[in-house]
Amino acid sequence: MKKIAIVTSGGDAPGMNAAIRAVVRYGIKKGLEVYGIKRGYAGLLDEDIERMTFASVGGIMERGGTILRSSRCPEFVRKETRAEAAEVLRRNGIDGLVVIGGEGSLNGAMFLGQEQKIPVVGIPGTIDNDISMTDMSLGVDTCLNTVVDAIQKLKDTATSHERAFIIEVMGRTSGYIATVSGLVTGAEAIIVPELPVNYEELGNKLLEERERGKINCIVVVAEGAASAYTVARHLEYRIGYETRITILGHIQRGGSPTSFDRLLASRMGVAAVDALLRGETSVLTALNGGKIVTVELDEVLKEKKKLDMELLNLAGLLS
Ligand code: ADP
Repeated sequence: MKKIAIVTSGGDAPGMNAAIRAVVRYGIKKGLEVYGIKRGYAGLLDEDIERMTFASVGGIMERGGTILRSSRCPEFVRKETRAEAAEVLRRNGIDGLVVIGGEGSLNGAMFLGQEQKIPVVGIPGTIDNDISMTDMSLGVDTCLNTVVDAIQKLKDTATSHERAFIIEVMGRTSGYIATVSGLVTGAEAIIVPELPVNYEELGNKLLEERERGKINCIVVVAEGAASAYTVARHLEYRIGYETRITILGHIQRGGSPTSFDRLLASRMGVAAVDALLRGETSVLTALNGGKIVTVELDEVLKEKKKLDMELLNLAGLLS
């Protein structure tokens, strides 16, 4: 193996740059030429590829987003398009590829490996923490810190004005961000797609708490469960006190990565290069009980990561 390339695809996540830096610098130290593919799979099809150097990844670890930029490339679901992409890689003499992205991007990576026979290693990069067989993905920890900071600020106002705040957080179909952010901010309720919600029961519980003297009320709702507006419509008339809605939106995806994400990205970047050098393909670097391992991409993509219900129980127990 002489030339490898790296691409970031799908939704951006903090930590992607730290992973790019690790792949580039470690790859060069291992005697490889390392190339960066711009704008995800779309840039690959456009042959938007440039040589990376030790210096070109200087000062990027602390930056959110991805310096390679990212895109959605819907036509990548077609086999012919992926064959074109593989042809671009072969034409450029690239014999190994690292893909950083979420579930969709990793599906693309799996096809490039299994169907197009390109040696490929994935790195999980998504704030949603919905990739199975890895304890964490890049960006999850940073996102949680952003969300917790925002909820804490809203709680100040909720307390001062004795209001209820319904806060909608991201996570696509996963309730992980809602569960953990709700747990560590002591939210009064957490609504996730993994569990049906009974608004009547919830309204009664919040009302009782108010009557017992709780002066603020934070409800965290995962975007995949319901919109904050829907929740407010169901709760406001039941609890009878003023509610405010906040949809945190894309601030959750940006920002300088936390030390946890920088460390995870650095370890996974190195592990990805090592995996390619060992001749592994169609695998994902994963965090498993503190260790970085590789797992088969097709196993990873068989099912979505399940929400740990213990966390939800814990939140309920302590709030
Ligand atoms: P994420 O990687 O963050 O989950 P997307 O789901 O939008 O983001 O996927 C990113 C890109 O990955 C898509 O635009 C497409 O190019 C590619 N992709 C998604 N799903 C598949 C699939 N089933 N097969 C092949 N490529 C896919």
